[in-house]
Amino acid sequence: NISCKSDIIKMQKFQLSEIDLIKRTSLLKRPIINSDDIMARVRPIINDVRNKGDTALIEYTAKFDKVQLNTPVISAPFPQEAMALDDVTRLAIDQAYDNIYKFHDAQYDRSTLVVETMPGVVCSRFSRPIERVGLYVPGGTAILPSTTLMLGIPAKVAGCKEIIIASPPRKDGTVVPEVLYVAHKVGASKVLLAGGAQAIAALAYGTESVPKVDKICGPGNQYVTAAKMFAQNDSSAMISIDMPAGPSELLVIADNSSIPAYVASDLLSQAEHGTDSQVVLVGVSLTVEHLANIEREIHEQASRLPRVDIVRVSISKSFILQVNNMKEAMKFSNDYSPEHLILHIEEAEKWVEAVQNAGSVFVGAYSPESCGDYASGTNHTLPTYGYARMYSGVNTLTFLKHITSQKLTKQGLKDLGYTVMRLAEIEGLEAHRNAVHVRIRDIEND
Ligand code: NAD
Repeated sequence: NISCKSDIIKMQKFQLSEIDLIKRTSLLKRPIINSDDIMARVRPIINDVRNKGDTALIEYTAKFDKVQLNTPVISAPFPQEAMALDDVTRLAIDQAYDNIYKFHDAQYDRSTLVVETMPGVVCSRFSRPIERVGLYVPGGTAILPSTTLMLGIPAKVAGCKEIIIASPPRKDGTVVPEVLYVAHKVGASKVLLAGGAQAIAALAYGTESVPKVDKICGPGNQYVTAAKMFAQNDSSAMISIDMPAGPSELLVIADNSSIPAYVASDLLSQAEHGTDSQVVLVGVSLTVEHLANIEREIHEQASRLPRVDIVRVSISKSFILQVNNMKEAMKFSNDYSPEHLILHIEEAEKWVEAVQNAGSVFVGAYSPESCGDYASGTNHTLPTYGYARMYSGVNTLTFLKHITSQKLTKQGLKDLGYTVMRLAEIEGLEAHRNAVHVRIRDIEND
């Protein structure tokens, strides 16, 4: 009964001018993840996969995903019938693919940067793809071709030689056709039918059927994240990761020009991800009536959602913060550093300049987060947990590394040599000094 008061699906409410600094700081915090506990569960799984390879992968898939596999890997070319889709689905995936490809291809500057820092001293920088990458596509409850697109396309654009996609299998031991179709489109060589820490371990260390990769990207639950962090810190794995990940988040800044139904729909689109999702509404001098309209929309729209039970939990942990002006709103948002930021305000575009920390920004009433989640072109694998302060979302550069080079002429070395020799001398590194000295001596004797 949606009219029953105790059933009202609503966010907590605060007024910035009425809370103290301690409360404001607590609103900026994300729920604490007990990483020691998770790490203790993940470590033996990783060790098992390192020691027993495919056998351990198959055992853990049976244990956690309740699927008995004969082999944990499907290799390309993937069977046509396993990626057969209806036309509507295929066209939707194809359009999303094209937009994401276009945006990520434009990010790739293939030219070599060349700078003559002084006459005869030429420094350059060029990029090369990371050769082998592992892309984790969460399985759990959802089917996620979108995450396969968001990770696979930049890897393909960058020119990675080997792309391996890992995702937990369905109950019948297969991979969803939508994911396999995208795996095919991005040129993946293998799909690893495993999830959690065991999948990450297989990618990081390799098994009989899974080649070891150089970098692992992609979101996942706390086991996936802990395993990525573990492998990154283990020098014997020699891998890097995209970023630490946590539950998804959204912060909406809305003023009285906003459309309540749109604001509510955006908040709910994030809240349905999981019970640990964080949504924040920063209201800029919202009138009592406007705020009430937004709250009514939240309740009414949420009540109609198939995932209402998830939303009920995530919304109750989320909050609305009323502020007096846009300056206060932007300050709070930048301090919070949301994964997704929606500017549902007058002159929204003008305020983009004031964004200091955010994973991805959605500007104006007609830019719902859903478009960025699926198909507009931007990436949806973004920094959460406040890491938007120092991390970028996945992009084409995630799959590239930059190499620098230099070429000095005789004259260049002659002009720079004494500087280098003096600095080497100060640092007490005689062999460094000598490498210049032997050459300068020859040049000067010429
Ligand atoms: P998942 O694929 O991350 O994890 C499933 C795996 O977890 C299972 O295969 C199993 O191996 C492992 N596991 C489950 N219980 C375990 C236990 N008790 N001990 C050890 N391992 C265990 O799928 P999920 O759980 O549905 O999580 C998906 C996550 O990805 C969510 O947090 C969601 O918010 C996030 N996500 C983020 C994005 C993004 O782009 N930011 C997109 C999609 C999903």
